[in-house]
Amino acid sequence: MKTKSYAVASATKPLAPFNLERRIPGERDVQIEILFCGVCHSDVHTVRDEWHGTTYPCVPGHEIIGRVTSVGAQVKKFKAGDIAGVGCLVDSCRTCGNCEGHLEQFCEKGAIFTYNSPDKHSGGLTFGGYSESIVVDEAFVLSIPKNLDLAATAPLLCAGITTYSPLRHHGVTKGQKVGVVGLGGLGHMGVKLAKALGAHVVVFTTSLNKVEDALRLGADEVVHSKDEAAMKKHLNSFHFILDTVAAKHDINAYLILLRRDGNLTQVGVPSEALDLDVSSLIFGRRSLSGSLIGGLKETQEMLDFCGQHSITSDIELIPIQMINEAYDRLVKGDVKYRFVIDMASLKQAQ
Ligand code: NAP
Ligand code: ZN
Ligand code: ZN
Repeated sequence: MKTKSYAVASATKPLAPFNLERRIPGERDVQIEILFCGVCHSDVHTVRDEWHGTTYPCVPGHEIIGRVTSVGAQVKKFKAGDIAGVGCLVDSCRTCGNCEGHLEQFCEKGAIFTYNSPDKHSGGLTFGGYSESIVVDEAFVLSIPKNLDLAATAPLLCAGITTYSPLRHHGVTKGQKVGVVGLGGLGHMGVKLAKALGAHVVVFTTSLNKVEDALRLGADEVVHSKDEAAMKKHLNSFHFILDTVAAKHDINAYLILLRRDGNLTQVGVPSEALDLDVSSLIFGRRSLSGSLIGGLKETQEMLDFCGQHSITSDIELIPIQMINEAYDRLVKGDVKYRFVIDMASLKQAQ
């Protein structure tokens, strides 16, 4: 099926209109008309080939909210007319230990990501959510709580689960002191989720103009990370720190803020390696981890949690025709706090 989308033809070209082919829905497939798609910094890294793994043409987008238009005969969870979500994953082997443990993102045969992954159906690559529709196996389609604004819910599908999963994995709970480094798309979700879990939340930002926002979003304290004296006040005090920074930065400055046995989890993926001073781990038996999105079961749990706590993203809704400008602004940190594309704009004359 011919499907309108926006694609990029090389690392140095802008995103532009592109017609892609979607498969005819199979027995277990859900066909979704895309209403909204969030713009993740990973889209920018991929489009510009900053991680050196992009195949072109590339259609990004993995924060997808849409309306089901048809379902295959074996589909049980969805029917035409339902609102549904698709995040970063569209398939996996489903039989390896990690898949059986609901950690499909670590599938031993290779998780199939929503874009730029091998697509067994087409023989080419998967194409993401900057498009008018998508066809996904029901096992990788999420149910969306009815009380949430749809456009503001789209970013939960990546920014939400990427921050929720490590907060839960590291047992963040009431009364703990939690740091969030970088107040962007992921960071602002991390603040809301850590707060909802009952933590005392401290935001570290390089942007003085985000201080008021950080407090409004739920932070108990905000630290300007370039202010050494302000940083020093927090030495040895954090149970957990979530680092969402998308560029090279000094993680040692944050590791030394952890208390004994504290953990810093890195979710931001700078294209350059970070320097580690191991003494910041050794003194205090601190640990450094990474985390990759979350499995399907946990993504549904996160969406339900957000429904219960009325948590969505703070967004700036844009037409797809503004996508290249939005990328430039995102790289400059000029977004409060997630761009979401209104896919109705794709139907307009281009
Ligand atoms: P974003 O909206 O651009 O936020 C990143 C934030 O990092 C910025 O708002 C800024 O916060 C801070 N920052 C940027 N450049 C900096 C620099 N040079 N030094 C210090 N701080 C800087 O991006 P995002 O969409 O949240 O994504 C963040 C990162 O996570 C990206 O690398 C993305 O690819 C990655 N990611 C990882 C996963 C995963 O599964 N692990 C999933 C999704 C995204 P302040 O202005 O507050 O300093
Ligand atoms: Zn993402
Ligand atoms: Zn697997």
